[in-house]
Amino acid sequence: MPTKGTIGVTTNNIFPVIKKFLYSDHEIFLRELVSNAVDATQKLKTLAGAGEFKGSTEGLCVNISVDKEAGTLTVSDSGIGMTAEEIDKYINQIAFSGAEEFLAKYKDTANAIIGHFGLGFYSAFMVAKKVEIRTLSWQDGAQAVQWTCDGSPEFEMGDCDKSERGTDIILTLDEDEKEFLEPARIEGLLRKYCRFLPVPIVFGKEQEWKDGKYVDTDRDKVINDIEPLWSRMPADLKDEDYLKFYHAIEPGQDDPLFWIHLNVDYPFTLTGILYFPKIKNNLDIRKDRIQLYCNQVYVTDSVEGVVPDWLMLLQGVIDSPDIPLNVSRSYLQSDRAVKKISTYITKKVAARLEEIAKNQPEEFEKKWNDIKIFIEYGMLSDDKFCESGLKFALLENTDGKFFKLEDYRNLIKGEQTDKDGNLICLYATDKEAQYAYIKAATDHGYDVLMMNGELDVPFMDMLEQKQQDAKMRFLRVDSDVLENLIPKQDDNTPQFTPEQQDIARSLFQSQIPPVEKAEFMVSFAAMSPDDKPLVITQAEYMRRMKDMARFQPGMSFYGEMPDMYSLVLNTKHPLVQKIVDLAEKALDADLKLVNEQINATQHVVDAIRDLDKDGKGLPEDKKKELEDNRKHLDELRKQRENLITAYGAGESRVHQLIDIALLSNNMLKGEGLERFLKRSIGMLK
Ligand code: ADP
Repeated sequence: MPTKGTIGVTTNNIFPVIKKFLYSDHEIFLRELVSNAVDATQKLKTLAGAGEFKGSTEGLCVNISVDKEAGTLTVSDSGIGMTAEEIDKYINQIAFSGAEEFLAKYKDTANAIIGHFGLGFYSAFMVAKKVEIRTLSWQDGAQAVQWTCDGSPEFEMGDCDKSERGTDIILTLDEDEKEFLEPARIEGLLRKYCRFLPVPIVFGKEQEWKDGKYVDTDRDKVINDIEPLWSRMPADLKDEDYLKFYHAIEPGQDDPLFWIHLNVDYPFTLTGILYFPKIKNNLDIRKDRIQLYCNQVYVTDSVEGVVPDWLMLLQGVIDSPDIPLNVSRSYLQSDRAVKKISTYITKKVAARLEEIAKNQPEEFEKKWNDIKIFIEYGMLSDDKFCESGLKFALLENTDGKFFKLEDYRNLIKGEQTDKDGNLICLYATDKEAQYAYIKAATDHGYDVLMMNGELDVPFMDMLEQKQQDAKMRFLRVDSDVLENLIPKQDDNTPQFTPEQQDIARSLFQSQIPPVEKAEFMVSFAAMSPDDKPLVITQAEYMRRMKDMARFQPGMSFYGEMPDMYSLVLNTKHPLVQKIVDLAEKALDADLKLVNEQINATQHVVDAIRDLDKDGKGLPEDKKKELEDNRKHLDELRKQRENLITAYGAGESRVHQLIDIALLSNNMLKGEGLERFLKRSIGMLK
């Protein structure tokens, strides 16, 4: 005689709430039911192991089937089953004890994770209008029980005639949930959630091609791999196993660069395999590639909070029963156990990289350019990882040689320490475009690093800050002339007199052709007579700001600004000296005249200003006189400029030198280039 009862819930009519509330996650009911079936199977094996269950546990599996006509989906296992008392205890009473609390907590979270919360079984009501349990307990002499519930808190329970041990959960699906009767849909879900469950999950039969079509064989189709790689001992595994597993979970990808097998029991349980993927280009960088499992049950691929942010670029799986799944993300991040897990993963990754760098240095160097982005990102965002990273991170020079930071410092210490004790690391970002500068530096016995990675600019910033006592500075080879990049002694004063500097500055400044989005300022340096007469440089600071602006949205105004360059005149170069000399001579008489007037006017200005020593202000007539004289002074200066500019316009060597400097920086284009070529040919005559 079937008994009737009411499920022990405090919230009446919880089912509509479950349905609506967990709307977006309906499909997870299957994960919940299959997990319960797997648990029941595992429990039986445990009982057998303890000698309590005497029967065979060979070939135990979980079966899923759909019956389109009846509109049912069934999950069957041969696990421990349940007695009537157990149903009462586990299904009728406690299932909902946490429901109210649960609902309160998750009101706002759409993709709540309901598994492992005691609500698992009831998730069946998200898709079913009726749920039936038919079960026979493993215990000797047990009576099979049937339980039915139609979605209201009322259920019916009574004996039935099930003769096989285990449990069938039979769902009669809602009208609008018929998709779960489609074998393809179910198979897809099983492959998503149950792919690595520890008990074989059977869904239908294997098929084979026969007489022009696919037909069922009598072999069961097992969906899952019951012993996924991460659950096995690292010592038993070969590289091929890791590669094969990687391609199984990340189809269509290149081989990964490295992998890390996580395996810890204390103080928490965590296993998993993380892969460093080969990133082909930036567009390829995707987060959410690590799958989170709980005892081989797929939970989510959103591991935010569990895995440090920078490691989200990795791929693979993490399996831990110790990650609380029933809490919000923000709680997760502050959870101590989770913090420990995150720290552990970081430590493991660092240790593994250190090990590879040490034991397989060639391999590490070969793959450096591919993993560099992970390591730099990690070092920039995680202080602990940075500490380890400083030990294995590599620098590559323009000859393609690799160095550990420590080794590099030792290499350049002798030659590249400036007069103030700064260790100057020179670097280039483009071997072709900066060829002349690189060559000048290497000819000088300096080493030049190659720093053209996405994160190299902030990475260098970070290194400069981290290594404060070692005073390491990074300067791009073209950010100044060599003498100024690594100044060795203070005597670097330009060879020109102030008058010569005035002339030279105006002479060259006035003849610089317009270059799009670039501005130039003439400056001086006493380089070697053998160096170039004219060099274009861009200050390290300005260029770094602009580089940063490229990937920091808030700084885009830097990107808008024109590039500022220095046009450095080598005051020791004979040609430069000759040009300035000739200009001085040619302009001598005219300039003398203007200069005298300038001096005289300046004198008047100074004298008037002197009248107002106490700062009380000048009488009106004096104010006017001061203003007139100042205007006059500006005009005279302009006049002087014009004289020099006019002279410069006819001095083709000035144009030629500027153009050559622009040309070697790839800045001479279009009309300017055409003019240069014509002039050059003209000079050959
Ligand atoms: P949870 O699995 O988190 O404990 P559920 O609501 O999914 O919560 O299940 C409640 C209980 O019902 C389980 O703990 C288990 O004791 C029992 N149960 C559910 N499904 C089965 C099954 N297929 N076989 C045996 N017992 C089951």
